[in-house]
Amino acid sequence: MLQKVVSSKKLNPHNYYRLPWSLTDNGISWLEVTTKCNLACKGCYRDPNKEGHKTMEEIREELNIFQAKRKSDCMSIAGGDPLVHPQIVEIVAMVKEMGWKPILNTNGLALTLKLLKQLKKAGVYGFTFHIDTTQVRGDSKATFEKEHNQLRTQFAKMLADVGGLSCSFNQTVSERTLTQIPDTVNWAKENADIVHSIVFIIYREPSMASDMQFFAGGKEVPSAESYNNTDFCGGRILKTQDVVDQIRTIDPQYDPCGYLNGTVDPESFKWTLAIRATDKKKVHGYMGANFMQVVQSANHFFTGRWLSYCGPSMLKIGKTTMPLLAPLDRGARKSLFNFAKNTLKNPLALLKRVNLQTIAIIQAVDFMPDGQINMCDGCPDITVYNGELYWSCRLEEIKEHGCFYTAVPRAKLASKPAKKTSAKKIKERV
Ligand code: SF4
Repeated sequence: MLQKVVSSKKLNPHNYYRLPWSLTDNGISWLEVTTKCNLACKGCYRDPNKEGHKTMEEIREELNIFQAKRKSDCMSIAGGDPLVHPQIVEIVAMVKEMGWKPILNTNGLALTLKLLKQLKKAGVYGFTFHIDTTQVRGDSKATFEKEHNQLRTQFAKMLADVGGLSCSFNQTVSERTLTQIPDTVNWAKENADIVHSIVFIIYREPSMASDMQFFAGGKEVPSAESYNNTDFCGGRILKTQDVVDQIRTIDPQYDPCGYLNGTVDPESFKWTLAIRATDKKKVHGYMGANFMQVVQSANHFFTGRWLSYCGPSMLKIGKTTMPLLAPLDRGARKSLFNFAKNTLKNPLALLKRVNLQTIAIIQAVDFMPDGQINMCDGCPDITVYNGELYWSCRLEEIKEHGCFYTAVPRAKLASKPAKKTSAKKIKERV
């Protein structure tokens, strides 16, 4: 049955902290160690049959380029699936030794307890598991997102048993799965002691590009090259606000604290971060803009880097963080007030741990009516290719054509060119 969603209060960028992340100084960078993968997701931006594994020398060279051109707290190690790279343990050790927190972005299929322990020893900081119904997986046959929750819990427990690792889950969102978001948000709350963040990534819907004609180096290219249709799309173009509306159906107090806007549209929310104070039963509240500003500024002051991922030891001290930041932040104050109220109703709540848990929403590439392409301003997923920095979500354009596409609205191409005014007429007008 279709759930009726009433649009909630519109997000206003003025209410939130604009993350200070930039091209040269960011929370995250993106290292692709292979194009190979043990899944073939239809929506994946990479061709698993091209290029294959990078050598250790190539990877070191890319890390050297990052060191020269861009500072970041974390290094997302991605692919393909990075766990299928035969030297993944050495790669993690190299990333750690060169000064980043290594985060593995994986579907988890190749993760065994033995490998996890080796990766922990090598210095891995955390994992972001990509598990959703856009995949055809051997380890979980799900047609609805909540049917994957058992598998998600299994990975979160595996990490918690080994200990000291950050645990995050990505989920692709299309119109077909939009109304299933509340199930994942609830599941994350019930597992707030072992799940530190959940990320909803809005799929770049092909219909958003259907009004555009693409060109690379002046030559026309078929839009299907990058915006291929898949059977999990619904046809409706989703925005961050649609995901927010869904979350608010089960948690009306949901409110972000930080964001990244678009490169072209200042009102677009490309990365939206909310941090909630929650035990496994009750959400006490959401941290506000000042909280994020204080945390980012303090981290940069003391370490020289903008913060991205936090370890479990920092996230489980919600009971300390709320009163500590309450004088500065409205969200922390409200959460503390709710916590006190809940404790009065049920004194046993005082014994429960309050965790800080992140809910992130990413709205990838979108188009303006005039053909401008709206990217994430201060893109955290910048990668290295041939010695240069590029948006990883559009790297295939560089690989195939050596340049990014430009887009022109089809309507503009179809309209007749303006008639040339003859020299005689111009003379007459003058
Ligand atoms: S611009 Fe592309 S690669 Fe960068 S963060 Fe946004 S979606 Fe990711």
